[in-house]
Amino acid sequence: MSIEFESVACYLCGEETDVRRLGQLQAQGPSDLDGRPGPPLRTAICDEVQRCSTCGFCSPDLGNSPGLPREQARQLLESPGYQGQLVNPRLNSAANNNLCWALICREARRYEAAGQAVLRAAWLCDDGGAVQAARWCRERALELYLQAPSLPAVQAMQVELLRRLGRFEAARTTNESLLKQRLSAELSRAARLQKTLIQNQDSGSASLATGSNAM
Ligand SMILES: [Zn+2]
Repeated sequence: MSIEFESVACYLCGEETDVRRLGQLQAQGPSDLDGRPGPPLRTAICDEVQRCSTCGFCSPDLGNSPGLPREQARQLLESPGYQGQLVNPRLNSAANNNLCWALICREARRYEAAGQAVLRAAWLCDDGGAVQAARWCRERALELYLQAPSLPAVQAMQVELLRRLGRFEAARTTNESLLKQRLSAELSRAARLQKTLIQNQDSGSASLATGSNAM
């Protein structure tokens, strides 16, 4: 895996931070139904959000605007909620970075991006065997996806999260509504696989390649 380091001036405080840059990685094989890519991106993508070592700004792109006016972003960074998330002792720093970025995206009303960030934190919890923390993250991710514009890809994520949380009836209803829409070939295959998984009350991770994984 190609990883390079580069110094970036933080958009919010101007101080330099060394950030990791992933080389040109491409996932091999299909993603999980929740969008988690196959290796070698599978683990690397969780580190996508980096943290300014001076002010605590977390972003996949520290040198650029997070989509909020600077003053609004600085106020959010100073808030107890953000400061507490930065150092939440129940989670590792990469998960906290993603959850802080989710707070910024939510403030900017970018709910889908916020949901994706919380989901990456869930994957980190999965990898660390932190079952309760992973479930907590999926609950928060679902709340965010429910606030995002209701496009088919967003509804597909709602189905996936509802199923992973064991809310099979709500997952079935949302999936049925999705299946009535005009879908891309991949979303259509995913929705048909979801239908089977929901019927089987299977709350495990799954991909289009294998049908389901044991994780
Ligand atoms: Zn900074």
